[in-house]
This record gives sequence, C-alpha cells and structure tokens, in this order.
Amino acid sequence: MNYTMHFLQDLYLKISTISAHWNITHCWLCETASPHIICEQCNAELPRPPLVCPQCARPLVFLEYVQICENCRFHPPSFNYVKAVFQYQYPVDKIIHAMKYQANFVLQRWLALQMRARLQTTVEKLKETALLVPVPVYPADLGRRGYNQAAELTKYLARAFNLPYDFKTVSCIKPKQQQANLSQRQRQQNVQGVFAVRSVAEQYSHVIIVDDVVTTGATVNEIALQLKLAGVKKVGVWCCARR
Ligand SMILES: [Zn+2]
Ligand SMILES: [Zn+2]
Repeated sequence: MNYTMHFLQDLYLKISTISAHWNITHCWLCETASPHIICEQCNAELPRPPLVCPQCARPLVFLEYVQICENCRFHPPSFNYVKAVFQYQYPVDKIIHAMKYQANFVLQRWLALQMRARLQTTVEKLKETALLVPVPVYPADLGRRGYNQAAELTKYLARAFNLPYDFKTVSCIKPKQQQANLSQRQRQQNVQGVFAVRSVAEQYSHVIIVDDVVTTGATVNEIALQLKLAGVKKVGVWCCARR
C-alpha cells in the first residue's frame, strides 16, 4: 500500500474513532445504554483463556498442569509462546468478524485496547528489544479488502509500547487457500511456501508476530519457522483470540 493510502486510512481511522466516541450511546452487543462500544457487563462476560499451555495457548487438561501441553512436547511448534486476550468463541468471533469484514474501526480500536491491557505486563518483562511484525496478507487480497487488520493492530501496539515494527520483514508471496475445511496436516501443507522472510537485523533476536485470530496455529507456525531459519532466536505470537 502506498503512502497516500496509508495516510488516508489513518485519517479515516482517527476521524471515525473520534466521531464514534461522541456517538457511542449503546453497547454493540447487548444494545443497552453505554458510553463504551462494549459495555462493562458484556466485557466482563467475554470468554477469556482458562489455564493454558504457555507455548501454544491451548487450554491445558488436568494432568498437564503448569507444563507445556502434550502436543507441544511431542511436536514442538516453531514459535516459543502465544499470548491471547480472548478465547475464539461467541461473541468474540462476532466482534472480530465485524472488525475484519465490515471494517468496523471502532471495534478494531477497542480490540487493540484490550490487547494493550493484557500485554502490558508481558512487555514490562521483555529483556530485549522485540520487533513486531503483522501476519501479512497477499497483495491482491489486500487490494480487495482495503486493509490488513493485523497490521493495524501491530501499529497501535508498537506505538503504545514504544516498540519497533516492520511490515516488510515478512511478506505473503503466494495466495493461501481457504483453511476452514482443511485438517491440521492439510493446513500445514497449505501454508508452506506462502511466506517469505527478508533478513532480520541482528539486534532483533526476538520477533513477535501479531494477528487477530490464531486457530490451528499453522500460519503463525510457518512464519515462525521462516523467521528462525533467518536467524531469529525467539519468536512469540500476540493475538486477540485463540481457538
Ligand atoms: Zn453490553
Ligand atoms: Zn501447547
């Protein structure tokens, strides 16, 4: 996307966010009177992760208590950890869908704020400077949709936490087939060769991939693998929701 597009999009986001702050009178979910896009009551009831595996962020079963899950133990993913704000269930799926496909920038900003609140302590514990990168979209798809929500979240979080970000480190060089009906193995094959990583500056031994939703983890796993092959030592994932 060129500079003018970025500028216009930023401007639109700012204007819509400001005007939305003036206009929000009802909760987007329950429609009761509220100055917030999601009222406090609905927010408190959103599905948040239970005790999860620190590596893949999937719920742990009783016997795996505080250790990494069996799947990560026997098939270690390429990423070192996943941090998710919500579980990808109703109504979080509905919120994310509206952000993504209806370009609801007010919900996008609200989700970014939730990520910021959840990740604050993680950032305070960062020992090295981490580089934030969004999961990229294939250029033709980007043209059709107009924007990449992962890139918008990345930009917001980078500014909020004063961390560097880059949109060119990882690029999408091949269109991805729809993943919805594929098995775990097919999804892994489906993402092979889809992403390219250009050299990462040596000062960034830690790279964090930002995305809206992580489902099977095949996409972020493939990007993490490419980053590690490019010499990155540690790869983390930040997402709004984890299935
Ligand atoms: Zn509500
Ligand atoms: Zn795991």
